Amino acid sequence: MPVREFIGKIRSGEIDAEKFYAEFFRELAELNRKYNFLITTAISKPGKLKDVKNKKMPYLPVSAKDCICTKGMQSAAGSKILEGYVPLFDATCIEKVKNEGGTIIGKTNQDEFGFGTFSTNSGFGAPKNPTDPERSCGGSSGGAAGLAKALEYPHIAIAESTGGSISCPASFCGVAGFTPTYGMVSRHGLIDYSNSLDKIGVIAKEVWDIALMLSVIAGHDSRDSTSANRAGHCPAKKHQPHGSREQYAKPANYTDFLNPAGKIKIGIPKEYFENTDKKVSDAVWNAIKKLEGSGASYETISLKSTEYALACYYIIACSEASTNLAKFCGMRYGAESEIDGSFDEYFSVVRTKYFGQEAKRRILLGTFSRMAGYRDQYYLKALKVRALVIEDFRRAFKKFDVLIAPTMPMVAPRFKDIEKLSPLEQYAMDVLTVGPNIAGIPHLSVPCGTANSMPVGLHIMGSHFNEGKVLQAGQAVENLTM
Ligand code: GLN
Repeated sequence: MPVREFIGKIRSGEIDAEKFYAEFFRELAELNRKYNFLITTAISKPGKLKDVKNKKMPYLPVSAKDCICTKGMQSAAGSKILEGYVPLFDATCIEKVKNEGGTIIGKTNQDEFGFGTFSTNSGFGAPKNPTDPERSCGGSSGGAAGLAKALEYPHIAIAESTGGSISCPASFCGVAGFTPTYGMVSRHGLIDYSNSLDKIGVIAKEVWDIALMLSVIAGHDSRDSTSANRAGHCPAKKHQPHGSREQYAKPANYTDFLNPAGKIKIGIPKEYFENTDKKVSDAVWNAIKKLEGSGASYETISLKSTEYALACYYIIACSEASTNLAKFCGMRYGAESEIDGSFDEYFSVVRTKYFGQEAKRRILLGTFSRMAGYRDQYYLKALKVRALVIEDFRRAFKKFDVLIAPTMPMVAPRFKDIEKLSPLEQYAMDVLTVGPNIAGIPHLSVPCGTANSMPVGLHIMGSHFNEGKVLQAGQAVENLTM
């Protein structure tokens, strides 16, 4: 049942929340046994809501990626080192969902700390693709996208992207995934991967669901110093004590943007098709032609910085990740061990045991690129390249409303083929998603067809804070290709 219909029926009393959740949790457990979408499932049904008519998402099932802190519910970011960590507070986005009547039903599986493209780096086993369980859901928000696809019940997933972790799994699983402008959704309560790149976003079956969730979670938050304070988001009055509702400003209603897209001007970056599987390109072009048929116009362009984006991304992401992971030392959160030897020795024992292979690799890579003597050559150079990537997009958006490209260069791969890939080959799979993530622009992956019976995602990128246009174009694709 679509989210919109569910909310209507809850409001009218046609659906009884108590009965609904009894069935819902049975189905969820069943799916989870089969696909491993969730690391933690909520154990209690929601309490009785007051004022159902005035809530934006009364009783709506909402899942959160494991890296988003939820009060009283384990939040491990997919890592064994955080197993057993139960936060005493809710992330801002979770607090907002609860204020609007939503129910947090569990924590979705992911690559450890977001390090990966296939969710195979999860400390809790990889989730399986609902279209073909021998294939990956994508990553790092693989559990969120798989669950959004497989669950017949209404549900919206809150996820997170650093370099493509929302778009990639949305594309591989055949659902919609939206990453907002950097700073649009508060990062307060997010277990960081790379602070200058992390964005909390949404995965759901329909673009409408995404617009609804964005209306709830977007907006300025004084607890996140990088939170954007913009027109359309009236500023938070002043710093309020933790948990106060006045703390964050009321955001725009994004469902209002979902009117017909009309004469939309589309740029097609040619570099994004160069190493893309032919069948994937064909599905994307097919959708572009349909958009043209409904009044849009397009032009092929060049985004010259594309070839440098991948290296730039991995240097920045690993550098920031290596500093973020320093706090996991077996003392403050999650896993611990017998205290033995010096602090350094203890710290090493715990980290050796509980961090996965990929986390260790990134600590080494990131520490290297920040080291005195190498910093100018790697980290500072990457920051300069980042400025070029942003400039490239800015130039394009002077002429076009949105850019359209394939989300991923291929369909979801089989686990047995992923095993054969070297770390570098795995990183290369992110070539199409890192650009918009480095630039911090809003981007949406929507299903546009299939290749070899697997879903194909089409990527829509817009200029900073132009979420409305991106969602509008996304809904146009959804209407034309479903
Ligand atoms: N695959 C990319 C990485 O491993 C992106 C992951 C993400 O966005 N969290 O860094």
